[in-house]
Amino acid sequence: MIAVSQLTKSFGSTSVLRGVDLIQAAGTVTALIGPSGCGKSTFLRCINRLETPDGGTIHLEGEQVTSERGESTRTDETRRQHARSRTGMVFQSFNLFPHLTVLENILEAPLRVQHRSRPEVEAEAIQLLRKVGLENRRDFYPSALSGGQQQRVAIARALATKPALLLMDEPTSALDPEMREEVLRVIRALSDEGMTMMIVTHEMELARMAADEVVFFDGGRIAESGPPDAFFSAPRLDRTRDFLRSLGSR
Ligand code: ADP
Ligand code: MG
Repeated sequence: MIAVSQLTKSFGSTSVLRGVDLIQAAGTVTALIGPSGCGKSTFLRCINRLETPDGGTIHLEGEQVTSERGESTRTDETRRQHARSRTGMVFQSFNLFPHLTVLENILEAPLRVQHRSRPEVEAEAIQLLRKVGLENRRDFYPSALSGGQQQRVAIARALATKPALLLMDEPTSALDPEMREEVLRVIRALSDEGMTMMIVTHEMELARMAADEVVFFDGGRIAESGPPDAFFSAPRLDRTRDFLRSLGSR
């Protein structure tokens, strides 16, 4: 589903990604963990081309979404559009459109970006709301919802364009424990259904219950990775152990 090779990205003189390699199969879930500021968000933003990487390549469903040196702006734009249209993104802070109802939030991209027919998209949106347990909130505005409900709407909205890959950047970090549970349940269900996801998280519970692979970012590279059981019970590197200990004590 996704193949990243030697990805690099700097902001001015700050080198944030220093050669990231990652392969992820369709239907699997990768949890990205690592200290604050190590480039996790930048990595997700490169994959959906909200950021333009400096070097390396990203292939999504076999199609390259990063440009080659010397390529035209137009070719790059085509690649960027592909990355944008085949991925969905869920942010820590929900980022729903405040002036649109729940249903309108979900319809926005399928109607305006994908130019699909309203009856078809609306039927799907209602299915998605049912899936996240919010079919009775379709006409509410985001401000009338709890954080957990807003995040579940954000997940439904991200799924509405039928992405091949769902990217989540700390989807439960802004939530109280109770609301965290309801969002975790939705993520777990998506994982069970075989949705391909890449999730940045500090929650070991989330990684354990939903991820096939845990990837530890450190210093702009992937320092260590493995299946959750092995990764959490027997990390190979001292710095992984130190990081996991710091999470446990938060
Ligand atoms: P993480 O998500 O792991 O906490 P980020 O990817 O957000 O890390 O940030 C990695 C580094 O890149 C940080 O030092 C951050 O300040 C810097 N950074 C991120 N985005 C930008 C930007 N648009 N301009 C300048 N620096 C940025
Ligand atoms: Mg981040």
